[in-house]
Amino acid sequence: MFEKISAAPADPILGLTEEYKADPREDKINLGVGVYKNEHGETPVLPSVKKAEALLLDRENTKSYLSIPGTAEYGLAVQQLLFGEQADVINDKRAHTAHSPGGTGALRLAGEFIKRHLGEVTVWISNPTWANHKGVFTAAGLPLAEYSYYDAAKNDKDFEAMVADLEKANAGDVVLLHGCCHNPTGIDPTEQEWQALAELCQRKGLLPMFDFAYQGFATGVEEDAAGLRIFTKVCPELLIASSFSKNFGLYNERVGAFTLVGRNQEEATKAFSQVKTIARVIYSNPPAHGAAVVTTILNDATLKAQWLQELADMRDRIKTMRTEFVKTLKAQGVSRDFSFIEQQNGMFSFSGLNKDQVNALKADHGVYIVGSGRLNVAGMTHTNMVPLCTAIAKVLD
Ligand code: PMP
Repeated sequence: MFEKISAAPADPILGLTEEYKADPREDKINLGVGVYKNEHGETPVLPSVKKAEALLLDRENTKSYLSIPGTAEYGLAVQQLLFGEQADVINDKRAHTAHSPGGTGALRLAGEFIKRHLGEVTVWISNPTWANHKGVFTAAGLPLAEYSYYDAAKNDKDFEAMVADLEKANAGDVVLLHGCCHNPTGIDPTEQEWQALAELCQRKGLLPMFDFAYQGFATGVEEDAAGLRIFTKVCPELLIASSFSKNFGLYNERVGAFTLVGRNQEEATKAFSQVKTIARVIYSNPPAHGAAVVTTILNDATLKAQWLQELADMRDRIKTMRTEFVKTLKAQGVSRDFSFIEQQNGMFSFSGLNKDQVNALKADHGVYIVGSGRLNVAGMTHTNMVPLCTAIAKVLD
């Protein structure tokens, strides 16, 4: 029966990790997959997470199923992180949250919800965007359209083109926005631009959907939610996919959340009942551990303060690497201006390197970056910085 099935292509990002692992060169450098690494190139468990896990091990007295949306404590903790502790949307009970298996699970829930309940609508994604967005929404059977986001010539956002494209969307269409640390460009809208985008969505009757996978990696947990919080004031309905893979370092625990904001409590509750039906037929109920860690940390003032500091340390290390990278490229004689890399947010930067240069970096120097030229800045260390910049200088020659 299986003889007619041809092999699927490797995932463009996870496939690169496999290639990296198989490379025997000792000085190879992996700037591919979006995982935070410390100065030693490791992705350790955060100490705040270790502490929360010790508490949980002691307190846990059942492995019984969670309810379909997970615990109410987790849902509230997620909403407070998104909207702020005393936010109106929370007090007015207009928000409902389902604990999902990772941010990807949340996006998939969103996709299924849109497909089943919002009619013939198009999902607008940025060009470029995280590669899996296309996969997830296409798998849910949704048509996609792209809005401009990036101006390669300026290595910057092209806000005018973005707005011009979104003006072409039809009422009811969904606009996927990156909450902060746009993946792959690292370039985010300003507060004025968020405001303009929110007003555009409201005026045209578009449904905003936030993908929030890096809260805390740009400036801080509160600051990074500025765009989303502007939207909650302007737009009555919203969808949000959160991921805690990066900011809690809980990658393999698969912890995320799908949050729906409705016009009022009644509409939100009805719509969310459909989300529960969708979750039931995909994974039934969520995996407990990662969300229990997140809830324990966020509900304990001391642990939360420790986590915020650990998150700040990750963020600051990446910022330091951005500065070092720009400086070291110059020192290696690279004349092209890479200073834009210092202005970008989060783990990623669009380097502007082309496919041939990316291939040459891999083949000749053991430096692995995604084909689009996206660099994971978190993969840079003081040790690999000079070899990395020397290799880039060579492929730019
Ligand atoms: N959205 C974006 C923009 C991402 O970069 C990622 C992770 N790479 C995700 C969603 C998915 O996160 P998770 O690993 O929690 O599924």
